[in-house]
Amino acid sequence: MRNVIRLTAFLALFAAAPSVAQSDPEGAVSQDRLTADVETLVGFGTRHTLSATDDPARGIGAARDWAAGEFAAISAACGGCLEIVQPETVASGNRIPQGVLIRNVVAIQRGSERPDEVVIVMAHIDSRASDVMDATSDAPGANDNASGSALVLEAARVLSQRTYPTTVIYALLSGGEQGLYGGALLADYARDQGWTVKAALNNDIVGGSCGSDGTCDSAHVRVFSEGERADADAAAREQMRSRGGGNDSPSRNLSRWVAAVAEAGAEEFAVRQTWRSDRMGRGGDHIPFLAAGFPAIRFTAAIEDYHHQHQDLRVHDGITYGDTADEMDFGYLASVTRLNVAAIEGLARAPMPPEVQIDGLVRPDVQLEWLPVAGAVSYNIWRRATDARDWELRMQLSGDEAADLNSVTLAPDRGDDWIFGVSSVAADGSESPVSSAVPGGAFGPMQPSL
Ligand SMILES: [Zn+2]
Repeated sequence: MRNVIRLTAFLALFAAAPSVAQSDPEGAVSQDRLTADVETLVGFGTRHTLSATDDPARGIGAARDWAAGEFAAISAACGGCLEIVQPETVASGNRIPQGVLIRNVVAIQRGSERPDEVVIVMAHIDSRASDVMDATSDAPGANDNASGSALVLEAARVLSQRTYPTTVIYALLSGGEQGLYGGALLADYARDQGWTVKAALNNDIVGGSCGSDGTCDSAHVRVFSEGERADADAAAREQMRSRGGGNDSPSRNLSRWVAAVAEAGAEEFAVRQTWRSDRMGRGGDHIPFLAAGFPAIRFTAAIEDYHHQHQDLRVHDGITYGDTADEMDFGYLASVTRLNVAAIEGLARAPMPPEVQIDGLVRPDVQLEWLPVAGAVSYNIWRRATDARDWELRMQLSGDEAADLNSVTLAPDRGDDWIFGVSSVAADGSESPVSSAVPGGAFGPMQPSL
């Protein structure tokens, strides 16, 4: 059933501020546990992907086994609510001269209503020294990336105390420093499982607030999002050039949504939206997710300290090098963890963003259409000037008519001057990110066969 509403001169001039849970209202995130987990991970000496897998005290094998044990303990504390899987593959490449087993440690908290709809929080657990092939020297990898790994474990501890309509995946990845193998392995796993990936949140270097030049910022976290979609083919890129899409990927809208979650939170802690896939010339495990067409963003500290990442432990010319826990800011890590917990909670409760079609060529009004979304009881219509960062609420469709509503005509509105989008809202008010009415705006792969 399709209804059409015509409205004239309706304007709502509010910035996008989705209705989401306040961050960590019960103070459940523990800075002490985050600190202890980072120290435990550092204690394995090195977690290099090519390091020992059969030594119970040192190397990547010991670290993975410990993490699996932590997930098992968390599951025991929630009545067995986590299913632990360890997908693996043998990989080789530039930084892996002989095939090595890449194994991810993954905990699955199944949703009660739509278990195939998933939110993923992930971090690479492996570490490196100055020489990326050095599998034996100490490589504590405290900030890069015991910080993200501890965040994933703490998120599992907090969120496993509640139930959600959709599934939450907690993932610790191997092979990140050798070429993002764990991210690719998890993206493959998600596709093989037939999961609908609503969002993948990659946390990598999230526990420091000062740089090597003395610049400090403990009030922001950077969220990296891609512009034009990585999985768009030449025909899709042509469509995007004509109809928009360079600034409206699902990843970009996820970034806007997470920024609004931070704004709505009680804490003075904000997202610095960084509109590029990753830092200049560098990468992370969200990149293979983007290549597979899944919405993915990267959280990274506002300020990186290049003396304390990817460095052998040493003192040279009076400068101390090495990625050690004493260089970290654990209060900062707790802030990033609380933001992740609030974002995962909101995403796990929200329906999928709709897939929106638009018609507004050479006419003074715009028609938007979308298929009904499972779990949605209403929809919000958004628009954004082409040079604006944030969405403005254009209208809300709620009440009885919203239940079957999947089409709306906006007037006066000229498609040449605005980008439009639609979000879906659950019965409890949880709202999805906005899905843009542009080619590639939908939260799913453009090339299902990739
Ligand atoms: Zn890293």
